[in-house]
Amino acid sequence: MRLPVECRPRGRSAVGNERFYKICQDFDLSIHTDADELTARFTDEAQARTFFETLVWPDGPFCPHCKSVKVYRFNSVKTTRSGEARAPRVGLFECGNCAAQFTVKTFTPLHGTKLPLLKWIKALFYLLSSSKGVSSVVLARHLGVTQPTAWKMAHAVRELLDYRHESEPVLDGEVEIDTKRIGGEPRKDGYTKYVWNPRGKGSDKAIVVIMNAREGRVRTGVVSGESAAELASVIKAVVKPDAHLMTDGDKALAVVGRDFGGHSSVNHGAEEYARVERKDGKRPRKRRRNAELRDDERNVHVNHAEGFAGLLERSRFGVYHRFSRVHLSRYLDEAAWLWSSASSRTMTTTDGHSQGEVQAEPFVFQLMTLMPRALGRQIRWSAKGGLFWPPPLQDGDPPAPSRVLMLARAEEKDSKGHGLPRKYREAPKGTRRTRSLPGPVRLRATSPPLRPLRPAPPPPDYTDEEIDGLY
Ligand SMILES: [Zn+2]
Repeated sequence: MRLPVECRPRGRSAVGNERFYKICQDFDLSIHTDADELTARFTDEAQARTFFETLVWPDGPFCPHCKSVKVYRFNSVKTTRSGEARAPRVGLFECGNCAAQFTVKTFTPLHGTKLPLLKWIKALFYLLSSSKGVSSVVLARHLGVTQPTAWKMAHAVRELLDYRHESEPVLDGEVEIDTKRIGGEPRKDGYTKYVWNPRGKGSDKAIVVIMNAREGRVRTGVVSGESAAELASVIKAVVKPDAHLMTDGDKALAVVGRDFGGHSSVNHGAEEYARVERKDGKRPRKRRRNAELRDDERNVHVNHAEGFAGLLERSRFGVYHRFSRVHLSRYLDEAAWLWSSASSRTMTTTDGHSQGEVQAEPFVFQLMTLMPRALGRQIRWSAKGGLFWPPPLQDGDPPAPSRVLMLARAEEKDSKGHGLPRKYREAPKGTRRTRSLPGPVRLRATSPPLRPLRPAPPPPDYTDEEIDGLY
């Protein structure tokens, strides 16, 4: 079974293709499914549940508590002693090894929500098929939920998109590297009007390192400064040592480039944005415009990385309006996923012109990658109404990057004495914590007895002439 070329995303195995095709067949979905089709196919909750079970457990269900595959589905209605028929919770499994119960949502980002799975399918679809994300306000309108619910759902989807399972560097070949400041334009109001308020370098905006492999994958990192040491720590975690780096004229990046297989740069200061270079270091040949690149030549530019920086800026400016520093890395993960999973293809228009079109990976393909890694990625509401990331399920599992950040911030604030909620704080020495007593209880006045409703007056009985007279 072969798929059309444009439906074969990068780096997929033939097994993956066959599975993709089978899932599409089983659930009667076309390859590039759309929102209308999802609405038509998933009409009841049981279907949506089977869909998730197929995706989360590609090799059959297993216990999320002990990883045993000896599990049983509850599907029989039991009669209690009082003769009452009791049906089990839909989708409930029990483990034959540790006797724990679970569903497909247990310990995933969907854990602890009572939302219908149909809404989750749609939330995933809208976010994964967008070009720069969907704001929680718009997502709430699409799904018919409140804005805070949509906000948490979107963050649950972003929880699936981060790259914490990658413990080894993944980018190789030619890798473009660029840095970007994230944040709006400098304020020019009142007092700061005559103060030098720099844009870009020199401002206190968050600094993002963009690493874009030429084959299409993007990874990002947030750094607190632009020293070579700091940039190197982020870049070396993601880019393989034998990769060839491409940068602009940044001196710190040039220092980082010495530790890699090679380094080329373009000098934007001299209005150089792209050039052709010989791989053997010899002088480049004289070239004609649009000449084919030879095997011993390479294109030097950072245009892909700058394109991604542009996407981030459009996403911030047009969709989310602001990335808070706490959640910045999560929005970066989302943008990196959307960028990496999009592919361009050439379309022929009705009047015969060919034009480029950027297309997202098929929805089911994206889910096939994302859902099997859902286990252990959890997200909850915190007591204060923010987000909370539970610890990893097992020792050695990578914690959510947001959890690491959350704990670091709580620790930092706690040193000032107001970080953690009151019940977790230690009472200052020499004081005893006293429990405040409830005040006098105000009882609600009993409601007055209901008055019988007066019968409505009968409608006036107009004759046809009188009705005509009314108009
Ligand atoms: Zn178990």
